[in-house]
Amino acid sequence: MIFLKTEDEIELMRKANLLVGSTLAEIGKAIRPGVTTKQLDKIAEEFIRDHGAVPTFKGFPNPYGPEFPASICTSVNEQVVHGIPNDEPLREGDIVSVDCGTLLEGFNGDSAYTFMVGEVSDEVKNLLRVTKEALYKGIETSFAGKRIGDIGYAVQQHCEGNGYGVVREFVGHGIGKEMHEDPAVPNYGKRGDGKMIKNGLCIAIEPMITMGTYEVFMLPDKWTIITRDRKPAAHFEHTIAIHHGKPDILSSFEEIEKLGV
Ligand code: MG
Ligand code: MG
Repeated sequence: MIFLKTEDEIELMRKANLLVGSTLAEIGKAIRPGVTTKQLDKIAEEFIRDHGAVPTFKGFPNPYGPEFPASICTSVNEQVVHGIPNDEPLREGDIVSVDCGTLLEGFNGDSAYTFMVGEVSDEVKNLLRVTKEALYKGIETSFAGKRIGDIGYAVQQHCEGNGYGVVREFVGHGIGKEMHEDPAVPNYGKRGDGKMIKNGLCIAIEPMITMGTYEVFMLPDKWTIITRDRKPAAHFEHTIAIHHGKPDILSSFEEIEKLGV
């Protein structure tokens, strides 16, 4: 069941999502060779709680195993999503996808950004650029009257057109009082397919894009998803509302991009 949001609810969603944007920027400030993802997690949890919110990912239930132990997902290089923060230092040339969720005043924020650690190869930079572009192509398609399949089509065309893989097993989603609501928002699809996009719809669009095969598998920790060929993957995510017929981006990369990362 899809819950369309009122004007007031969209503004509450914006608050939760802007806090995610600020949290990701705090993490961005700390990312450098030698920092551990556990240190990044600590920064995130403190920042979120200091702002009166709850880190939604912490304790998130898992149908396959233990609940998620941290406040952010940190997925390094060939890890696609759901990486668990650990004590391993990041190295020059790594990429780390940081996914963050907050619950503030009853509504959820959800956004993700793939950061570079020091200098990364041009090949990897290109993967990040194309993945971020694909996110915006999906957003630009999200007008009232279009369909969910139009979003996936736009993302898929852009990524596959650049020779990259589009992960199938994990998709974007509706968001609101729950972090995951209907509808599912795949990063692949056919034009004109799927549910109609309407005013008040709030969705997280989140391309998960791979340099090689789009096939992925789960590590024995029952969380971390990695590419089958161990080639790098990128993940960018915004939460948007369809507002006055148009996409309104509720999360923000503005503070992150000011850092020049
Ligand atoms: Mg997310
Ligand atoms: Mg999400």
